Amino acid sequence: MRFVFDPELASFQLAPEHPFKPLRYELARTLLRAAGALEEDEVVPPRPVSDDDLLTVHDERYVGLVRAASAPSSRPPDPELQRHGLATADNPVFPRMHQLVRGVVAATVTAVDLVAAGAARRAANLSGGLHHALRDRASGFCVYNDLAVAIRRAVDRHGLRVAYVDVDAHHGDGVQWLFYDEPRVLTVSLHESGRYLFPGTGFTYETGNGRGRGTAVNVPLEPFTDDDSFLECFEAVVPRALRRFAPDLIVLQAGADMHHRDPLADLSLTLRGMRGAYERVVELAEELTGGRLVLTGGGGYDAYRTVPRAWALAWSALAGRSLPAEVPPAWREEWEGRLGVELPATFVDEEPEPSPRAAAIAGRNRSVAQRLLAQLEEIWSEAPAA
Ligand SMILES: [Zn+2]
Repeated sequence: MRFVFDPELASFQLAPEHPFKPLRYELARTLLRAAGALEEDEVVPPRPVSDDDLLTVHDERYVGLVRAASAPSSRPPDPELQRHGLATADNPVFPRMHQLVRGVVAATVTAVDLVAAGAARRAANLSGGLHHALRDRASGFCVYNDLAVAIRRAVDRHGLRVAYVDVDAHHGDGVQWLFYDEPRVLTVSLHESGRYLFPGTGFTYETGNGRGRGTAVNVPLEPFTDDDSFLECFEAVVPRALRRFAPDLIVLQAGADMHHRDPLADLSLTLRGMRGAYERVVELAEELTGGRLVLTGGGGYDAYRTVPRAWALAWSALAGRSLPAEVPPAWREEWEGRLGVELPATFVDEEPEPSPRAAAIAGRNRSVAQRLLAQLEEIWSEAPAA
């Protein structure tokens, strides 16, 4: 087990009051240490990557633009930045943006390299998971796509077939589009439907293109989907898709914004359902990849109350370790003092009030998953697995 960590990647802000809070990463690390679920010698620094490494998925002019924008003396005019999604409310320009986000990429690449080379069975970069970044465009708080750079490298340099599983509340659009034609990468995303939520994609008919046909899988879910319906849809689709694809490595994007307290999305999960999904991904890695699994973070905007506990559960699932029922009081008191917010005392959420619409929502999700699977089986039967 390796936990890739660079304190610099937890210590910046995109802008004051911006909902994406890198400090979550430090809260998760310290929570795991306090709970006895992370050993000091499991924490490793990222190995740096070069700008050339970014060019395996990003456009050269775009990388140049991000680099120029990262120093006040060379900042391009806003209209030019805005054509590439920068200098916007979602993706403000911030000091050392290029260097810091390249550091996030380096941490995910390090995690993949450690697992691909057999130096670790599993590795995590909780600062990573920037799944919305596109080839030449920042989007949804994401400037560079660390996941795509690392997956590209797993395929090209290590010769692996990679299954990407994205349980963030938002569609993993950047990763999907960057591998839409690639038969050696399967992208699976469960998310709140793009009819209701950013980025407005991730429909069942997005199934991949050309030689990659049948390697994009999308499960768009109704707002207010709960734990049981989420896990039912996961079980209906994900094991079948992964077994059919037969990956050498699984990359799990564990954005934590499907939680019912998240302010930017409308799903109604609790930590129980989230932990259930993490544990199933670990079991599938045991079954299919010899255990090889890389974990990243992602979204999560109930940043201090929910995200550190969710990611502690994800890491513990990877490590096969159990957490105590109580959040360690010393950790809670320290961060309550530093942040000025009240933090939950246990790793178990109170179950939210059952929604009177829960059965109707579950029924709709079930029929979406069934139709999706029927459609995929037809595509898969035409195009045998590579
Ligand atoms: Zn998200």
